[in-house]
Amino acid sequence: MLKGIGVSPGIVIGKAFLLDSQDIAISKERISEAKISEEIARFEEAMTQARCEVLDIQKKINQEIGIEHSDIFNAHLLILEDRTLIEEVIGKLKKEKVNIEYAFSKVLKKYIQIFSKIDDEYLKERVSDVKDVGKRVMRKLLDKKAQTLVDWKEEVIVVDHDISPSDTALMRKERVIGFVTDIGGRTSHTAIMARALEIPAVVGLGTVSRQVKSGDILIVNGSQGIVVINPDKATIKKYQEERKKFEKFLKELNKLKKLPAETLDGHKVELSANIELPSEVHSVIAHGAKGIGLYRTEFFYMNRQDLPTEEEHFQAYRQVAQAVVPYSVIIRTLDLGGDKFLSHFEIPREINPFLGWRAIRFCLARPDIFKTQLRAILRASAYGNLKIMYPMISGLEELRSANDILKLVKKDLRETNTPFDESIEVGVMIETPSAALICDILAKETNFFSIGTNDLIQYSLAVDRSNEKIAYLYEPAHPAILRLIKHIIDTGHKAGIWVGLCGEMGSDPLLVILLLGLGLDEFSASSIALPQIKRAIRSVSLKEAKEITSRALRLSSAEEIKEFVAQRLKKLIRI
Ligand code: PEP
Ligand code: MG
Repeated sequence: MLKGIGVSPGIVIGKAFLLDSQDIAISKERISEAKISEEIARFEEAMTQARCEVLDIQKKINQEIGIEHSDIFNAHLLILEDRTLIEEVIGKLKKEKVNIEYAFSKVLKKYIQIFSKIDDEYLKERVSDVKDVGKRVMRKLLDKKAQTLVDWKEEVIVVDHDISPSDTALMRKERVIGFVTDIGGRTSHTAIMARALEIPAVVGLGTVSRQVKSGDILIVNGSQGIVVINPDKATIKKYQEERKKFEKFLKELNKLKKLPAETLDGHKVELSANIELPSEVHSVIAHGAKGIGLYRTEFFYMNRQDLPTEEEHFQAYRQVAQAVVPYSVIIRTLDLGGDKFLSHFEIPREINPFLGWRAIRFCLARPDIFKTQLRAILRASAYGNLKIMYPMISGLEELRSANDILKLVKKDLRETNTPFDESIEVGVMIETPSAALICDILAKETNFFSIGTNDLIQYSLAVDRSNEKIAYLYEPAHPAILRLIKHIIDTGHKAGIWVGLCGEMGSDPLLVILLLGLGLDEFSASSIALPQIKRAIRSVSLKEAKEITSRALRLSSAEEIKEFVAQRLKKLIRI
């Protein structure tokens, strides 16, 4: 039995499926003699395409950042042009009559092993180059055919060192019934995605990917962060019973679906949902959300080689807007970076990606990409109630620059008589400590705030949100966080704007009471969390929540605060 961090609730029992180091599952297929030349041609084409791609990236980096940063790609080109490697792959294919993906992955693994063993720092570093190149070529090959996880026929629990958000986005809910990883934390994007897909998941398990083989039976308890490998019959029975209990509990919660998010003394708050994909909209409505408080748009840019067109953006936004009308949809502009990497951009690796060239910083540097998205949002605003929200604002200049670009886009649309909502609201995510501290200044030039606690906590407490080793320090109930949130809400209200919260913190019933007491106007969370948030809201009066909160704010540590609130809540709700 392994203990990790439960990031998406529920219990599943099923077969493990190990994603290999390529992130992509490669199956071995026999091919006929007649197919050999076809497979070789596919391989050569994939190598050529990969080469063009690398040259392209190198050129862009040369122009934008400087030649010293593009040098790393020379090593990639050398591998792609290495005749010994190419001949070895082709030789294996001819000899064993297997599909090219399989032959290529085997030869690549051999190279990786050889390089890893060499006692030379420079050559050791080439391992990651070989892996990168391998991935690139494999993606090219798989674009055409071969079996990947998405084609898998059986239900599986995916096991990997880490699963990138883009791979997670590819998982079809009905095939992947759970996943477990070695690394990650509650607010890492893999975890967020698991909740969006309603797949039980446990992360931060340390070495699970080395302890489990494909085909092993696993029990995943995403509520408690437990994974059992090859359990005996009695253990399976025990967890089957727990699963039944959990399902019953969910059913109870679902009864709240149609009831308002209202305290015992009649104070109403907005309860909306976070979505990553337009297809989630129906689940959101089924869980009783009124609108969308955070539509993360990064997934739109993932798993593709080109940028989404304005038309693609527009179609998706219109679909979501129309599905929830008359309620609103807050579309967050591209929040690339941190742990949200897009395969297409190939942004050079940074030492501190969470503090790097990301989100609004990236969009302001690439107005072409930003404008395309803004145009599409504005055009879709004619079909529903849309709002725009900027991520990672750290100072007034960024807000002003983003608004200037928005103004230009609006002007263009007016000139072509393209309809859009002239009074569309624009909000700011408060997720950096600097934004929190100057929110009085930001409030003058924005319509609303949404507190992004996932990032606000990591930046304020200096704790990487996706590092399981320091997950014990990632503490939403830290007095520093509560004071910051109080400041943001009070300041927003003083300036006459509403304040919401869209980080994971808003999903914990205990913290919901504190946020309610602090005067939060809107809660937005993954749809599976909505019923329990509603239950917490419906079990107190606003007066009581305020009294609990003001006493909690006088305590000195997260432990004391949580214990105090839990004691008070014991009488009100079963947590
Ligand atoms: C946040 O930072 O709290 C947030 C909601 O955004 P994301 O998790 O996408 O960074
Ligand atoms: Mg964020």
